[in-house]
Amino acid sequence: MSTLKLFDVHTHTQFAAFKDEIDVVIKRALDAGIWLVNVGTQRDTSAKAVEIANKYSEGVYATVGLHPIHTEKSFHDEKELGALVFSNSRELENKNLPGFLSRAEEFDYEYYKKLAEDPKVVAIGECGLDYYRTKNLELRTKQFDTFKKQIELAVELKKPLMIHCRNAFEDLIDILQTTNYKLKSGIIHFFSGTVEDARKLLDLGFSFSFGGVITFTRDYDEVVKYMPLERILLETDAPYVAPVPYRGKRNEPLYVVEVAKKIAELKAVAPGDIERITTENALKIFGIKNDRD
Ligand SMILES: [Zn+2]
Repeated sequence: MSTLKLFDVHTHTQFAAFKDEIDVVIKRALDAGIWLVNVGTQRDTSAKAVEIANKYSEGVYATVGLHPIHTEKSFHDEKELGALVFSNSRELENKNLPGFLSRAEEFDYEYYKKLAEDPKVVAIGECGLDYYRTKNLELRTKQFDTFKKQIELAVELKKPLMIHCRNAFEDLIDILQTTNYKLKSGIIHFFSGTVEDARKLLDLGFSFSFGGVITFTRDYDEVVKYMPLERILLETDAPYVAPVPYRGKRNEPLYVVEVAKKIAELKAVAPGDIERITTENALKIFGIKNDRD
């Protein structure tokens, strides 16, 4: 295994998109000095993330949790998924992507607690709030309650939170303002809020992970420039949202290199410093020791 160089703090190599290539994709990352965290989104993807992490002596970790979109039954159509992956509509039409039906799941505290006690589990999530599709107050309340239970679990096990938030920053900040004092720490993944949201979340002690999207839109430039490097982490969110120059392809942890380059450009800092600082941030937040350093 190569020396640790970069940390992809939020990826999903356990997802169906990788089928029987999971080990190949992970090996490609490890050979390039990239460590990774497979993030669970419901029961089976959480269990699989833990199982994969335990196949490796170092460099592969897991989180377990219930994603807000999986608290309700919903159909994710090809257009929306495709919009994340492909850069223009013509590309999208040619791909003929299938949609998928996401089943509703209740958060089973004991089930997730048992999984989370595994030493390879470095955070609870991805959990949080996603109001993008959910206009219904009852369903939003269900997301809110499910998120609260996962905050409780993170507090009980003294692990950080891996947070997903879309179109719900006001409620997210509200809930974290009343609970964050008990929390170890947390990462807001794929941050899409405003600079003002970022300021409040920084005050509460949270960190932020950025992925491929920053390489092809300018929407995140201001917020990346605003954030202190000590609070920035890198992610791919693979198989989704591959960075330039891999747009339209299946994303994978190896491509986190492109995200690091873009952060270096936006921050006007040497790429080597971005690699070192974001990797240190990841080891610190997850409480991982890199014995060979
Ligand atoms: Zn994710």
